[in-house]
Amino acid sequence: MSEWEAVIGLEVHAQLRTRAKLFSSAPNAFGGEPNSQTTEVDLGMPGVLPVLNERAVDLALRAAVALGCDIQPVSRFARKHYFYPDLPKGYQISQYEEPYALGGAVLAQIDGESVSFPLTRIHMEEDAAKSVHDSSVAGSDSTHDNLNRAGVPLIEIVSEPCMHRPEQAGAYLRSLRATLRHLEVTDADMEKGQFRFDANVSVRRVGETRLGVKVELKNLNSFRNVERALSFEIERQVEVLEDGGKIDQETRHWDERAGRSTPSRSKEDADDYRYFPDPDLTPLRVTVERVEEIREALPELPHQKRQRYQDELGLSAADAGVLSEDREVALFFEETARLCGQAKSAAHWVMRDVLALVGESGQDLAALKLAPSHLARLIERVEQGSLTPASAREVLAEVARSGDDPDAVVTVIVNLLDNAY
Ligand code: ADP
Ligand code: MG
Repeated sequence: MSEWEAVIGLEVHAQLRTRAKLFSSAPNAFGGEPNSQTTEVDLGMPGVLPVLNERAVDLALRAAVALGCDIQPVSRFARKHYFYPDLPKGYQISQYEEPYALGGAVLAQIDGESVSFPLTRIHMEEDAAKSVHDSSVAGSDSTHDNLNRAGVPLIEIVSEPCMHRPEQAGAYLRSLRATLRHLEVTDADMEKGQFRFDANVSVRRVGETRLGVKVELKNLNSFRNVERALSFEIERQVEVLEDGGKIDQETRHWDERAGRSTPSRSKEDADDYRYFPDPDLTPLRVTVERVEEIREALPELPHQKRQRYQDELGLSAADAGVLSEDREVALFFEETARLCGQAKSAAHWVMRDVLALVGESGQDLAALKLAPSHLARLIERVEQGSLTPASAREVLAEVARSGDDPDAVVTVIVNLLDNAY
């Protein structure tokens, strides 16, 4: 293995958080009655015209500006043709030769060090519909199409072939997801398919500068699966080459249960899609002023928070990393620290107790009934000595469940104890 080097590039699709679709006024929402969230445009009826959603453009720009891309003054939408039941028009509208953003980078944290992974481009495109394979009805082998997702706005973020280890791919994806969520560009709920990724991987002998033949891995629905799939695939490719074989350029499907990748189809060439500029859409023009406005309105990003927590609040790099990744957690921590005036205690309590409660509940922090003011009050009482850390922990769990005022919860618990004796 040590004679071989893996090369990895990632393609990520993120659904933009808009109210409407990319080219129609149909709602962009998850889970509605099948085929209820559509207009003639999404259904591919003849004679209709797409109208670009400016809000989607704003969100796409916000992501690209935050990732340090060069925003292109002019970009263009193209038609990508293929025949599949999830695509009623017979083509997907996507930016191809002229994407709206080039370059940029994703900054990730690996073993306490900051690493920058360069991007090739980001482009805008519409999502396809969802084919539902009907195994819920016994004996049925039919497939249904739900067109609610057809036309939902996406950005596709394409990295350079710049990674060499599966853990780097995992770190890249975690960091990118955290950044896009901080920006409120996407909810990036992976169970709802709002943040999806494919991994391209090849191997070559150490010292070789040309890229090897790549395989595209699909069906990677968790960060853990990406790393497992890449490890498997790298080993597979090295074995094939060491046995004197050669790698087919193909798409492979990751089978999570079996823990291996299997061939799914040979990869199409770009030519097969017969791309051409969509004659129904004018080129997208973005002014310097619009980009500057978006840049000025950017929120603080996870890597900036991570640095500030260390520099200004005196946290360790590891703690700052944990607290800055998730937007909800970061804002909860910051508000608690501000209210109780003790950043280190706040960090300690959030990381140990609040995140444990979040883990136990299996839900987001927002779903707990806990407010930063609650935790700040408990920290104050522990510091004053009117509550032991152990009792405070119990009170915290009760407050998270009920949303009651911590002082009231303490009184109830004290009364219970008094009555018991
Ligand atoms: P395709 O035309 O198959 O989509 P692209 O050149 O657009 O290929 O690249 C898609 C992704 O694959 C990018 O993230 C890129 O970095 C990565 N990639 C390209 N060539 C290789 C290679 N030889 N090995 C690993 N990754 C690669
Ligand atoms: Mg490509």
